Amino acid sequence: MFERRGPPLDEPIFKELAIIGIGLIGSSVARAARRRNAAGRIVVADQSEDTLARAHALGLGDECTSDLGSAVRSADCVILCAPVGANESIGRTIAKALKPGAIVTDVGSVKGTVISTLAPILPPHAHFIPAHPVAGTEQSGPDAGFASLFVNRWCILTPPEDVDPDALGKLRAFWQALGSNVEIMSASHHDLVLAITSHVPHLIAYNIVGTAADLEEVTQSEVIKFSAGGFRDFTRIAASDPTMWRDVFLHNKDAVLEMLGRFNEDLTALQRMIRREDGDGLFALFTRTRSIRLGIVAEGQETAAPDFGRRLSEADE
Ligand code: NAP
Repeated sequence: MFERRGPPLDEPIFKELAIIGIGLIGSSVARAARRRNAAGRIVVADQSEDTLARAHALGLGDECTSDLGSAVRSADCVILCAPVGANESIGRTIAKALKPGAIVTDVGSVKGTVISTLAPILPPHAHFIPAHPVAGTEQSGPDAGFASLFVNRWCILTPPEDVDPDALGKLRAFWQALGSNVEIMSASHHDLVLAITSHVPHLIAYNIVGTAADLEEVTQSEVIKFSAGGFRDFTRIAASDPTMWRDVFLHNKDAVLEMLGRFNEDLTALQRMIRREDGDGLFALFTRTRSIRLGIVAEGQETAAPDFGRRLSEADE
């Protein structure tokens, strides 16, 4: 079902790529860029010496450093892969070191506040083009990344209106080389779409797992023992990184609250159907929702496997 990436490119898209934050997403970018020869030289930067030591051991960069300024100095493209809340301090640290014409991009799950935070900080001689690869897992850190994470996934770019077309073309080519399909949209539309497709589902998972943990009539061991009844799939999402997701909700507040309002109205309608024993209403809704899942599988965005396969086969890693 998944398309494989092509062979390594003859010429790298970026002579030098700096990746700041070498966790799940940053290390996946490094692995995929290396495999496709999308970057000639990769410099990895992170705030944590332990993480950098691990990145070095995994061979993720040609250079690994905690000095963000020196990491970006000769980079043609700088990609920010830290949690969204860290962008302001990273932006202030790297701004003066960026070379003329450098592309600065990110992978943050929120776009509106990333732009309002970074655009005023970055120098006019750099091209700032925000991005969000809609791909991930509930794991964190450099060991969790893998080269095929972006294959057949969407990467959304939210460029400013006056974006330099060459810079945009290069960034688009980079994500395509990593296996992604690229879509361009406004930051506000991105934040609304992702609120319902990603942010609210995570909030629901965090909430239901928290509710189960607090139940007094059901013991913890029963929750774990009978988790295959549906709860287990929520726990996978609710195991996602607390720092990353705290930042997502704080930075996409308006869109998440708007979608939560809609969700609450629909939940009340479901409650009413159960109370009124409206079996036809429940059946009609569940039939409609099942077809949405089938559509996602048909588009290759999910496998039909019941354990929610996320990776290609080991041979692809
Ligand atoms: P992660 O695995 O926790 O990695 C984040 C890395 O950034 C960590 O190594 C962290 O350092 C480092 N970092 C934090 N603050 C920093 C700073 N000030 N300077 C330099 N490095 C810093 O997180 P992730 O899942 O890769 O997420 C990274 C970004 O990708 C987030 O913006 C998120 O919204 C976006 N994203 C995530 C997913 C997903 O499913 N996870 C999907 C799409 C986009 P430590 O070693 O100290 O922790």
